[in-house]
Amino acid sequence: FEVSVTPIVFDKVGAGAAVVTLRDLTEQRRSERMRVDFIANASHELRTPLASLLGFIETLQGPARNDVDARARFLEIMRTQAARMSRLIDDLLSLSRIELKAHVRPDSAVEISGIVRSVIDAIGPLAQDRNVELAFTPPAAPVWALGDRDELIRVVENLIENAVKYGASGGRVETSVTAGEGPQGVRVTVRDFGPGIAPEHLPRLTERFYRGDAQASRDAGGTGLGLALVKHILQRHGGQLAIESRLGEGASFVVTLDPAPKELAASASPALKA
Ligand code: ADP
Repeated sequence: FEVSVTPIVFDKVGAGAAVVTLRDLTEQRRSERMRVDFIANASHELRTPLASLLGFIETLQGPARNDVDARARFLEIMRTQAARMSRLIDDLLSLSRIELKAHVRPDSAVEISGIVRSVIDAIGPLAQDRNVELAFTPPAAPVWALGDRDELIRVVENLIENAVKYGASGGRVETSVTAGEGPQGVRVTVRDFGPGIAPEHLPRLTERFYRGDAQASRDAGGTGLGLALVKHILQRHGGQLAIESRLGEGASFVVTLDPAPKELAASASPALKA
């Protein structure tokens, strides 16, 4: 608490009173601490690939100057590190853009099954690399949520990509979409059958840069920002993310969103208008 005392003197003899103000600083301190931690984490995450890049450049200019084999290998590592930095910067920029818009509610009608379909197509090659089957049975009718199309693509992309990266290789990832009336009626579930998530990690996974297994995340090309992005996007949509998992039994990520009003969905859909 911050304590301030303002004396009030009533008369010349000195009789009087004082106003004592107590201000709760816990919340302010907490957000200041989070900001400082965030900058420290971001700098550290950027510095690691940068240090590696500098090291390889110096080696290529010096000892490995005339080594053709080493040059090809080092350049490939340098490309990977540079790509990592670039992904990290993209994610940081996306996060700050979404935070800037935090209080503006997105208001387009977005068809969710189509988004899942196209994300699955895009992630296909990564899934094939890990020999993961991507299963999705689209619902019979289109499912319309109220939101921002690009941001909802980002949400679905992050969840399916994580399920492929952290689920069992040679396994299966199931995505389902269901429609319902009323607030949070639209539901997207991404389920994998991998090693699952330990209970102590569960509540912290959506924190920026928090990783269950830092090495596994880096090996998979992760930035530690994916689920933080998902959380911020859903917050501004008035939606939610629920994570359910038991060690050894895989994980389920469930997104809930408000359905788009029928008239809005009808005007957004050429098929329904015809
Ligand atoms: P990253 O870039 O590390 O993937 P995310 O924010 O997307 O960052 O995820 C944070 C952490 O949550 C991951 O590093 C991983 O430890 C854990 N995680 C996410 N999805 C899954 C999943 N389907 N199964 C197990 N762990 C997961």
